[in-house]
Amino acid sequence: MTDRPTPTYETDVPPGESTAECPHCGRPLESDRLLVLHEGIDHWERLDDERREEFREAYRRENDDLRTFRLKTLGLLVIVYFAFLFVYSVQTEDPYSVLTLVPI
Ligand SMILES: [Zn+2]
Repeated sequence: MTDRPTPTYETDVPPGESTAECPHCGRPLESDRLLVLHEGIDHWERLDDERREEFREAYRRENDDLRTFRLKTLGLLVIVYFAFLFVYSVQTEDPYSVLTLVPI
């Protein structure tokens, strides 16, 4: 992880909303959790040990959340697959009806 330049982003913050602003590059971020992740990825060399440990913990939580999301998505795909298979088997009287089209 290196201290690389951060590209500029157009952001629109609603009035009255506070943002977490990066002290290194000034980039506004939605939450402190995102600020910790941004600092760890883009400004690793400037962080002290405490901030690096916060990044590791936030990164580990983010990975856990992603793993949970992937498992839920896989479960949803399996449910959708079997739902279509069930509907197909109910709607079709003869699942091999395509074979009846071929003259024997
Ligand atoms: Zn930054």
